[in-house]
Amino acid sequence: MKKKPKSSEGVASNGKRSRPKVHENACHACGTTMHPSTAVKPVQINGETMRVRGIPHLRCPTCGETLTRSQDLQTLWDRGAALYREQHGLLDAEDIRAIRTRHRLTQAQLAKLLGLGTNTLSRWEAGRNVQTAAMDVLLRLVRDVPGSLAYLKRHRA
Ligand SMILES: [Zn+2]
Repeated sequence: MKKKPKSSEGVASNGKRSRPKVHENACHACGTTMHPSTAVKPVQINGETMRVRGIPHLRCPTCGETLTRSQDLQTLWDRGAALYREQHGLLDAEDIRAIRTRHRLTQAQLAKLLGLGTNTLSRWEAGRNVQTAAMDVLLRLVRDVPGSLAYLKRHRA
């Protein structure tokens, strides 16, 4: 593979670096500095829209434009997921891990028995994804109904 020559390294071609002095929090619509504020924001969790209160964002005092930063999108997702879990009465990440470890299974083993990808189960246990209500029922069966795991082992192993 041919190496491209580095163009004018260390020497700017026009003698100047044109770095525009735009404030990091400037409104992209009108240039006014945006201020921190909060709002109710929607987020999709397993195809269901959760409306989460108090999500931080930046708001332009002049034109009303808003900007949600990536860390605030993470907050939105985390709190939306917690709301979804609460509304559906779902097991939390720790509950799911406990079901697996009580049966001395690896994530790969339990994932296979439930017909899931290993990554899916690992994300549930890390709280980075939320199981659907249907999968929650299946997890509860494994937890509460004696013989259910043996059944899955017979039919899915
Ligand atoms: Zn603006």
